[in-house]
Amino acid sequence: VGGESEGGGGPPAEEDGRGCEGLWELPVEECVRRPECGRCSRPQKVCLCPFLPIHPLTVSTCLYIVQHPAEESRVLRTVPLLAACLPKDKCKVLIGRRFTEDRYPELAAVCRNSHALILYPGAEAVNLEEVSLTSADPSVIIIIDGTCSQAKDIFYKNSLFRLPKQVQLKTSLSSQYVIRTQPTNTCLSTLECAAIALAIMEKNDSIQETILRPLQALCSFQLQHGAQIHHSKEHLLKNGLYDKPMPKNKRKLRRMELLVNNVKI
Ligand SMILES: [Zn+2]
Repeated sequence: VGGESEGGGGPPAEEDGRGCEGLWELPVEECVRRPECGRCSRPQKVCLCPFLPIHPLTVSTCLYIVQHPAEESRVLRTVPLLAACLPKDKCKVLIGRRFTEDRYPELAAVCRNSHALILYPGAEAVNLEEVSLTSADPSVIIIIDGTCSQAKDIFYKNSLFRLPKQVQLKTSLSSQYVIRTQPTNTCLSTLECAAIALAIMEKNDSIQETILRPLQALCSFQLQHGAQIHHSKEHLLKNGLYDKPMPKNKRKLRRMELLVNNVKI
């Protein structure tokens, strides 16, 4: 690796307070912001680069991550880790909520490509495992990064995303991303989805392992430093561990019943 610059690049030394009258009026963001690692975008002290592949993975699939703007500012971001595992030209991140043909001509062209896929579960989606992937054509997959409701908003309010073939993952893998509460066990983080999808499309299981390694390191690191395991609501309910008062609202109560009984909502 060794791409990090040394010397001179460290955080500014702390002022002792003398001779800097008036400085306290200046905005403090620069001082508060912890120095970030240029490769994994993690604070330098908790850099995950040792868990990333030394060289970007060799893949023929091109990944487009459509990211909800709220996702970029989250503390625990998984997309920079994903991007760090892949060659730059195979992982493109677009941030926004509305993607129109004239503002995103490249994305529009991708959506019109007959080999393009969009990963979004639903009644219309085909299991990715069952899509016949002919290796002769370079394939493209679009993944939406955001909470389930943000992803829903992005998918349904952009007609461009109706053009590619809609696919979903028929996986029994439970989310390993235990730090962030997922509404159901099958709601995977973007990094997990990308890892599984790429392994299927490239017909290479080791891709999944390589991409998930930094996430596993991140989770164990967070747990060692006091973060609590956030099991999904589904897990808590099924194991009698749900300690919040049950909702009074009948619709919410019904939703929870469906969760416990494994009915896909
Ligand atoms: Zn790093």
